[in-house]
Amino acid sequence: MDVSELLDGLNDAQREAVGSPPCSQLILAGAGSGKTRVLVHRIAWLLRVEQVSPFSVLAVTFTNKAAAEMRGRTEQLLRGQSNGMWIGTFHSLAHRLLRAHHQEAGLPQAFQILDSDDQIRLIRRLIKAMGLDEKKWPAKQGAWFINGNKDEGLRPQNIDHYDDPTTKTWLQIYEAYQQACDRAGLVDFAELLLRAHELWLKNATLLRHYRDRFRHILVDEFQDTNSIQYAWIRILAGDTSHVTIVGDDDQSIYGWRGAKVENIQKFLDEFPGAKMIRLEQNYRSTATILKAANAVIENNTGRLGKELWTDGSDGEPISVYEAYNELDEANYIVNQLQQWQQQGNALVDAAILYRSNAQSRVLEGAFINSGMKYRIYGGVRFFERQEIKDAMSYLRLISNRRDDAAFERIVNTPTRGIGETSLEKVRLNAREQGCSMWQSAVMMVEQKLLTGRASSSVAKFVDLIDFLSDELAEKALYEKVDVSMRHSGLLAMYQAEKGEKGQTRVENLEELVSAAKDFVLDEDEQDMSELDSFLSHAALEAGESQADEFDDAVQLMTMHAAKGLEFPLVFVPGVEEGMFPSMQSGEDPERLEEERRLCYVAMTRAMKKLVICHAETRRLYGKESYNRPSRFIREIPADLIENVKLKTTVQKPTMQNRFHQESERFDASGFHLGQRVNHTKFGDGTVTNYEGSGAQTRIQVHFDDVGSKWLVVTYARLTAL
Ligand code: ATP
Ligand code: MG
Repeated sequence: MDVSELLDGLNDAQREAVGSPPCSQLILAGAGSGKTRVLVHRIAWLLRVEQVSPFSVLAVTFTNKAAAEMRGRTEQLLRGQSNGMWIGTFHSLAHRLLRAHHQEAGLPQAFQILDSDDQIRLIRRLIKAMGLDEKKWPAKQGAWFINGNKDEGLRPQNIDHYDDPTTKTWLQIYEAYQQACDRAGLVDFAELLLRAHELWLKNATLLRHYRDRFRHILVDEFQDTNSIQYAWIRILAGDTSHVTIVGDDDQSIYGWRGAKVENIQKFLDEFPGAKMIRLEQNYRSTATILKAANAVIENNTGRLGKELWTDGSDGEPISVYEAYNELDEANYIVNQLQQWQQQGNALVDAAILYRSNAQSRVLEGAFINSGMKYRIYGGVRFFERQEIKDAMSYLRLISNRRDDAAFERIVNTPTRGIGETSLEKVRLNAREQGCSMWQSAVMMVEQKLLTGRASSSVAKFVDLIDFLSDELAEKALYEKVDVSMRHSGLLAMYQAEKGEKGQTRVENLEELVSAAKDFVLDEDEQDMSELDSFLSHAALEAGESQADEFDDAVQLMTMHAAKGLEFPLVFVPGVEEGMFPSMQSGEDPERLEEERRLCYVAMTRAMKKLVICHAETRRLYGKESYNRPSRFIREIPADLIENVKLKTTVQKPTMQNRFHQESERFDASGFHLGQRVNHTKFGDGTVTNYEGSGAQTRIQVHFDDVGSKWLVVTYARLTAL
C-alpha cells in the first residue's frame, strides 16, 4: 500500500508523530506548527497503515466546524468512508453517549437539551417559587454557581457549605433546579458532561465496553479542557488506550471558564509512557508576523517554553494604524478591504478579530454603509442581541403604544410580578375588544379586572412607560436610550448577572447609548422624529440578512472564536490600554497573562498580513475615552512595524495627502480635523469626523461641554478658533 502521501508534506517531527506505532503522545507546539494537521494525518495513518478499525477511534475537537473538517480531511486521505469513528466536541460526544444509554444515565429517552437562556429562565422561576428575593439571588448567578460546580464534577451533596448561609441557599437552588430538570427530562450543557462522566463511574460494564472499543483517543486544543472533560477522557482511556493530545500552553484562553492548562502536566504525570513531541516550524505566518507574536508572548512567565521558526519570507511589515476615533478605525478597515479586493483577493480571506463583542457595532455600520458583505461568526449581530432588543422595545413602546410585540417583550422584563395568567387575560381582553395589549392593560387596570397584585404591577408598568415618554419628550435621543434602560431596571437586571455573559450584555447596552449619540437623521427623514428614525434603522440593520454561506464576505468574530483558524489578512482593532488588555485585567498579573495569550492567538491567525489598529479617542459602552496604545504594541519590535498615520476619513491638513479627493471635499467646508471651533449654542469643541460633500457636508464636533454632535456645516454657523 502506498502510504507515502500520508507522510508527504510533513517535516521530520510531524512524521514521527504521525507514523509511530500506536502509543500515547503529547504534541506540544506553538501556533501554526501543524498540530491539527498532524492529528488528521495520524487518524488516517492509524486506519490505513495500522489497520485499526474506525470504530476504535475517538477524536475531540473544539468546534463542530472543526469536527466536520477533520472528518472531511480524513476521508479524503483515506479515499473512503470513516464510518464508525466518533469525532466531535466534548459536548456533542457526551450527548451522543447519553442518547445511546439514556436508561443507564437515568434519563428519559426523549430528554431535551436546555440552552443557557432557558436554563436561566427556569432558575428564575424556581428562585421565585422558593420565596427568595430575586435581587439578592439573581438567576444568572445561580446558573454560574450550578455550571461552575458541574464543571468540577460536583453535585449538591458533594459541595461543602461550611455553614455559610449564602452557599447553603445556592445549594438549595442547585438542588431544586436539578430536581426540576430531572422531572422534566432536561439536560443543560454542563450536565451533559457531568452525566457522561458519571456514566463511567456508575456503570462498569458500559465503561469496559467503551474502553475496549476506543483504543485510540485524540484531543485537539487540549490546553483548554476543563476538569470534567479531562476526567472523562482519563477514565475512558484506562491503562490500555492510546491517547494523543495536542496543545499549546501559550494559547490557553478559557481560564475564565474553568479550563485548566495544568491538565497538560497532569497528562504527563498520569500517562508516564507518553511520547513528547515538539513541533517547531511554523507554516502559517510570515517571518515578520511570527517574530512579532513570539516577542509578545515572551513577556509571560511560567511558560512551558517553545521555539517557533519559519523558513518563509519576511513578508510585509505589520501595519499599526493610529485612528482618530472608532469611526475612523472602521472606515480605514473598510478602505483597506476595498483595496484588498481590487488586488484580486477574496473577502472571505480576511478577518477582523476583536476583544469584545460590542466592538462589532461600529464595524457593522461601516460595512452596511459601504455595501460590503460581512458575516459574524459564532455570534449575533448587534441589533439582534437579546439585551438590545429589550432596550429597543422600551423605546418602541414609548414611541408607539400599539406595538404589541414590544409590549410582550418587556412587560415583565425585568420581572415585576406580572405572571403568565394575568398576561393571558390581557391578551384575551385585547382580542375581544379588538384593541392593543397596551389599551387592554390600561382598561383592565381601570376596571379592576385583574387580581390585586397583578393589577398594581400592570398599573406600575403603564405608569413607567407614560412617565418615560413624558419625561423624555424633549431629551436628546441618546438620553432617551440611557434614561429608559436605567429607569426601567433593565440595565440593573443585566448588571446583576454574574460572569462574562452578563458583563457583555451591560457593555452592549452602554454601546447602544453610543449608537444613539452617533445617529444622524437622513436627509429624507427630516419630518420623522429622531427616535422613530433610529428605531427603523435598527430594525433594518437587524433584518439585513447576513451574507449567506456562499457569499464572499469578510469574517468578523471575537478573538476567542478565532482559535485554530487562519486567514491571509487579519485586522485587530481596538488595541489600546483598557480595551486590550481589558481594564479589569490590567492590574491582575494572571489575567494580564491570559490577555497576552489571547493577543498571541489573534496575531498568529494571520498568514500574510497583520493590521493592528488603535484609536486616540474611542466611544464605547456609551463613554468617550482617551486610551494609550496597548502595551502589546510596544512589545512588538519596532523594526517589524510600519506606522500608518494617514487618516482615511479625517485628514489633518499638515499631512501628506494621499486620499486627496476625500480631503478636498472636506477642505471645501473650511474646516479640518482636530480644528477648534465655536458654536453659538454648544460652545467650543474639536472637529472629529465629517461626512458628505459640498452643501451637504456634515461634521462631527466634540464640544467641551455637551459632547459630540453632528452638524450640517451650511447651517451650523461654526466659527474657527
Ligand atoms: P493552531 O495552534 O493555530 O491551532 P496548528 O498547530 O493546529 O495551529 P495547523 O492549523 O495544523 O496548525 O497548520 C497551520 C498551517 O500550516 C495549515 O495551513 C497547514 O496546512 C500548514 N502546514 C502544517 N504542516 C505543514 C507542512 N509540513 N508543510 C506545509 N504546510 C504545513
Ligand atoms: Mg490547530
